[in-house]
Amino acid sequence: MRKTLLGLALVAALLPAAAAGQATVQILGPPHETGEFLKPDLVEIVALDPTIHLDIRYATPNNLAGRPVYPEARAFLQRPAAEALVRVDAALKKIGYGLLVFDGYRPWSVTKVFWDMTPPDKREFVADPAKGSKHNRGCAVDLSLYSISTGREVAMPSVYDEMSPRAYPSFTGGTAAERDARDLLRRAMEAEGFTVEPNEWWHFNYRDWARYSILNVPFSEIARSRR
Ligand SMILES: [Zn+2]
Repeated sequence: MRKTLLGLALVAALLPAAAAGQATVQILGPPHETGEFLKPDLVEIVALDPTIHLDIRYATPNNLAGRPVYPEARAFLQRPAAEALVRVDAALKKIGYGLLVFDGYRPWSVTKVFWDMTPPDKREFVADPAKGSKHNRGCAVDLSLYSISTGREVAMPSVYDEMSPRAYPSFTGGTAAERDARDLLRRAMEAEGFTVEPNEWWHFNYRDWARYSILNVPFSEIARSRR
């Protein structure tokens, strides 16, 4: 495990179970993967398109953990996914909207933190660290829309990271305007090779996700302003 702050937090999180002598299997590192993978090429989204807005909740206490789990408010994706996102943003701009990104590449250690703190009955909303997440591969992005005229986030049927049926892209409640905005985001993303997660309207996977391996590289080790 890398000796990062997150790594230390992870070790601390595991200690109580170990001290209690519990017989559960503890996962201490990313899953071992075999096969051929593309070389990682993480790029900072706003370096490609500064008009994409960021609201990196995981760098603030306003997230599932109730404390920052990212040391920096930055968002990265593998280059082809980031370039596709720029095309989505350009298409939406023509009809008055922009993309508001909550999260992109997520180091594996953070996926582990979320899994450990989530009650078992809510774990459909978090990735199993034994399998890793498409975020860990730099091929998943959590995002919403902002209105260009107001600069504000567009209302959706649920808030980001809400663990309820309102988060499902198929949810039929909420207002018509909220559902229309959600469906507009989905159509725009699908047009550029992304698919929506069946239970999270804000989460999209890039089509080539399986060609990238799970990464546990902290943001600080990703070169700044690469283009
Ligand atoms: Zn996600």
